[in-house]
Amino acid sequence: MNWNRRLHSLVPAVALLAWFSPLVEPPVAAQVPSTAMPTVENTRSPAGDTTALAKEAEGWLADLIRIDTSNPPGNEQAAAKYIAAILTKEGFTPEFLDLAPGRSALVARLRSAAMPDPSRALLLVAHMDVVGVDKSKWTVDPFSATIKDGYMYGRGSVDDKGMLAANLAAFISLKRSNARINRDIIFLATADEEQGGEASIRMLIAKYWDKFAAGFAINEGGRVVLNNGKVQYVAVQASEKVPVDVAVIARGPSGHASVPTKDNAVVHLAAAVAKIGGYTAPVRFTTIVRRYFEQLAPLEDDELAKWIRSLDTPDRGEHAQRFLSDANPLWNSMLRDTIAPTMLAAGVRANVIPSEARAMINVRLLPGDTIDVLISELSKLVNDPAIRFEVQPDAGLAAPPSSLESDFYATITKAASQEFSGAPVLPFLSAGATDSAQLRLHNVQAYGVSPFPMTDEDSRRMHADDERLPLASFDKGVDFLARIVTEFAAAR
Ligand SMILES: [Zn+2]
Repeated sequence: MNWNRRLHSLVPAVALLAWFSPLVEPPVAAQVPSTAMPTVENTRSPAGDTTALAKEAEGWLADLIRIDTSNPPGNEQAAAKYIAAILTKEGFTPEFLDLAPGRSALVARLRSAAMPDPSRALLLVAHMDVVGVDKSKWTVDPFSATIKDGYMYGRGSVDDKGMLAANLAAFISLKRSNARINRDIIFLATADEEQGGEASIRMLIAKYWDKFAAGFAINEGGRVVLNNGKVQYVAVQASEKVPVDVAVIARGPSGHASVPTKDNAVVHLAAAVAKIGGYTAPVRFTTIVRRYFEQLAPLEDDELAKWIRSLDTPDRGEHAQRFLSDANPLWNSMLRDTIAPTMLAAGVRANVIPSEARAMINVRLLPGDTIDVLISELSKLVNDPAIRFEVQPDAGLAAPPSSLESDFYATITKAASQEFSGAPVLPFLSAGATDSAQLRLHNVQAYGVSPFPMTDEDSRRMHADDERLPLASFDKGVDFLARIVTEFAAAR
């Protein structure tokens, strides 16, 4: 998924490592991946000591990065085969769910009873495909899983092969422990998340729902926010915005460029795009966003907290909304529908006035808002009969938010507090889309928990050049995820 920036200052890797080894601040040259876990007041994890498991999972992550699953074309089957071999060795019976040539999802199940109850089952979801790379902009080979300064570099290291390897580790750990479990745990590696096309979760559900039907899911989309060397909070994604592409089309007479007229389609389009780009949709608080800000206020400094607490007040609300939206583009995205013009196309030759000019705008709606209402606002704003809007096919679907009162949300909250010295869980609405929306539409209580403590700087490298995952964070994330899964598997 796409990630967004927060406004906090960048935390250097040294600060990050200092957090993992609180007694010594290692010199820069000593930034090697460390397995040392802080021995602070953590309650013992029901998953036991995961140090060796995390090392093993680092190897799986490296191998998965080396399998190029850039989408398009995806070629996820190669990754699915790799994971299937590991699962088979561990005594599972993984099953390929074929979607298109070269494109399969993979599912495996840890059974709790002869007659499983899908409504209790927990699904561990991660996608195998990655976005493409511009190799020339990387300082290392993006498919080599190079380890440098305590980081594993590689396309997909964060999005989403890190989670894929961590899910695998938590799943295998539970099996190896022979612990008695009270619900089925299902491992699912999906395909085509980045494009949402022929091999996406939508197709997977349509074709194979019975293979992985579950009441609960854990997926990407949240974040363990590392700030000034400390986990500030754990954002758990319980809802997401709805992506809709809209074409903006201008028409006018074509003609010789030597005799221009006022009705040039390019000029009309440019004016329309400029107005749309300056548009700010009204703020609307969803339940999740309201709760997020309520819980965020006490974690921020006094100045920011003051603004956050004023967000929904009659006298200072508008000012606070503007201040916070400017301070942090992610907050802006959580508060309102957003529009980003992304593509422009017009003309065939420099001396020919074209009869049509087109722009593409990428709209992200708050769940519950409708594209028709927004387009009618934009039409009024543009106020030009030469312009029309055309909603593109394959728009996202709005899903109901996952419950903040479920047993699983409570389990995640407890595990986060134990893992990260009392760090709170904040519910989160993500601007980016994930597979969870489709799951929520099938009554799954799906939560986005990307379990690795990450600074803003590292989070921003998702989909960008030199994507990298701190290995110490990966190990910590494996521990966190195994804790959540083991705890919930045993729960009655
Ligand atoms: Zn992703």
